[in-house]
Amino acid sequence: MARYLGGVCKLCRREGEKLFLKGDRCFTSKCGIEKRNFPPGQHTRRVRPSDFGLQLREKQKAKRIYGVLEKQFKGYYSKAARAKGVTGTKMLEMLECRLDNIVYRLGWGSSRNLSRQMISHGHIKVNDEVVSTASFQARPGDKITLVSQEGKDMATLFAAKQKHKVPAWLSEAKVGNKLSSEVLRMPARDEIEASVHEQLIVEYYSR
Ligand code: SF4
Repeated sequence: MARYLGGVCKLCRREGEKLFLKGDRCFTSKCGIEKRNFPPGQHTRRVRPSDFGLQLREKQKAKRIYGVLEKQFKGYYSKAARAKGVTGTKMLEMLECRLDNIVYRLGWGSSRNLSRQMISHGHIKVNDEVVSTASFQARPGDKITLVSQEGKDMATLFAAKQKHKVPAWLSEAKVGNKLSSEVLRMPARDEIEASVHEQLIVEYYSR
């Protein structure tokens, strides 16, 4: 799956807020937003955005937070629009249940990027099978385990500095030398940390 390979701090600067894309660095004074809180590029004059501009920025922000490119993101919207329930909430639920996001929310990876790397390197098992696809959709009842020694070291490394709590829809336990978790239920809207106004994204795609 294609992914964005450019600098990530400028994505935060474009959105004007911290998107926490770089792990521990995001909590230090080296954070790009702390040092240069203005949009990247030469023409940085802020103009009042139109309705379309607001919708576009919200969609871009959500894509950047979850590390998803346009085609895949639109796919999530289309699936959510066909599903029962509120489209925006359904879309966020699907993004939140991506395996890379779960590994990040458990604090095993310090960023979604690192979590994606742990998955593609085979450090994560779902229901006793190695899953190497970051976009894997976890469902209630799925058991997620951090398996290899290398993966465990990464988790230990980050656990010491963990800045967020494990959300209530996930459980976490240490089984022998493995870290294990279970998806207890689908996340509720107020348990989804991402500061996204999903209604604006729905309006963007329904134009
Ligand atoms: Fe964003 Fe983190 Fe870079 Fe700060 S350090 S600008 S929060 S990616």
